[in-house]
Amino acid sequence: MIYNEEFETLPREALGALQLKRLQQVVSRVHSNVDFYKKSFDKAGVSPADLKTLDDLQRFPFTTKQDLRDNYPFGLFATPMSNVVRLHASSGTTGASTVAGYTKRDIEIWAELMGRCFVAAGLTKNDIIHNAYGYGLFTGGLGAHYGAEKIGASVIPMSGGNTKRQIMILQDFRPTAICCTPSYALNLAEQGRAMGVDMRALALRVGIFGAEPWSEKMRAEIEKALNITAMNIYGLSEIMGPGVAMECSEVREGMHIFEDHFLVETINPKTGEVLPPGEEGELVFTTLTKEAVPLIRYRTRDISRLNTAPCRCGRTYHRMGRVMGRSDDMLIIRGVNVFPSQIEAVMVGIEGLEPHYQLIVDREGTLDTLEVQVELTEKQFAGADEVKVLQKLEGQLKKDMKDYLGITAKVKLVEPNTIARSEGKATRVIDKRKL
Ligand code: ADP
Ligand code: ZN
Repeated sequence: MIYNEEFETLPREALGALQLKRLQQVVSRVHSNVDFYKKSFDKAGVSPADLKTLDDLQRFPFTTKQDLRDNYPFGLFATPMSNVVRLHASSGTTGASTVAGYTKRDIEIWAELMGRCFVAAGLTKNDIIHNAYGYGLFTGGLGAHYGAEKIGASVIPMSGGNTKRQIMILQDFRPTAICCTPSYALNLAEQGRAMGVDMRALALRVGIFGAEPWSEKMRAEIEKALNITAMNIYGLSEIMGPGVAMECSEVREGMHIFEDHFLVETINPKTGEVLPPGEEGELVFTTLTKEAVPLIRYRTRDISRLNTAPCRCGRTYHRMGRVMGRSDDMLIIRGVNVFPSQIEAVMVGIEGLEPHYQLIVDREGTLDTLEVQVELTEKQFAGADEVKVLQKLEGQLKKDMKDYLGITAKVKLVEPNTIARSEGKATRVIDKRKL
């Protein structure tokens, strides 16, 4: 099912023409309205008139998270505050949070794009959506809320936390879909089971999960625990919030980027060079229709790759692969680059381990060390008086990390329920080097 047939299936050529027209408009608007862009364009020796094709964008400078922080809170706004109807801020997962502002039209477009996401996930006005993304400054809650209303579904504005109550509502209101972070979905499933609730027998059939990296293995885990189809959604508050890209239920291989509103590039994060589609790199977005805070060539620090192959679902938008992690989450363990999500993928493959884990990075002399703390399943723990069995599990995880990722790490198996559960974005890495 497609929410906006006209735009979501626009032939690539027409889409390109639309993008160029919108790009020219937004670039000249920020050039005249935002001091920061006037200066940065001048410095790079480019002006809006240089934009004759989409490729000309490559001559324009990047905008970075640091630029947003330097202009905190409202320095990059392209419209007077009297036109702004909403303010949000990023979660601040990797530092000071950045501010997002929306005009009425920005909110309308956001609601439509979230609506497109829900429809792509197979939801209709007949669905009841349990929205456990946090409401508040975080864009997840309200973003999903407006999208759910947009398609006429019934939305339960649950927000994050208060897990026992959530489980009660899941039983009583019988929602058919749930939105939250993937780590919170697992947390819910686990706490529900502990309360004696059959979490597979709820009315839920679809889950829409995002806001943090997760793996295919974790998808399988969630689908099994909740007896649902789990879908991946991507977004970031600087660009809009959730709903920048979404998987389609037909294929579930990569997330379609709503390219009529966002122009995407992948770059080599070290050199800034634009990469051909398909190569892994940092995603860079330009907002094409945002009024309040348009961003030109915003470096997300998210590492992914683009897939330009046509999709069976009929959408003509290119797809982005799973975000393996952010360049600032990447660990370098004795020279080997690794993302937490890759370690997660390895451990989820081992029977007896739960995808509840923490990575402790430290330094011994000049070398960085990694300790992986991971929980045993209840079943494994109950039968774990045999030291040999645990040693074998530990050994296997160590070996798999070495074989698949090339890293040497200490492994510590811990009792079920000892690693703090997330109610939003999970904290996977504890970096003791900075302490
Ligand atoms: P913060 O950067 O402070 O966490 P946001 O709340 O705006 O702020 O989160 C956006 C970030 O969340 C993205 O840049 C990306 O790193 C991560 N993210 C969002 N959706 C996904 C997803 N489906 N898979 C992996 N990472 C995601
Ligand atoms: Zn598709």
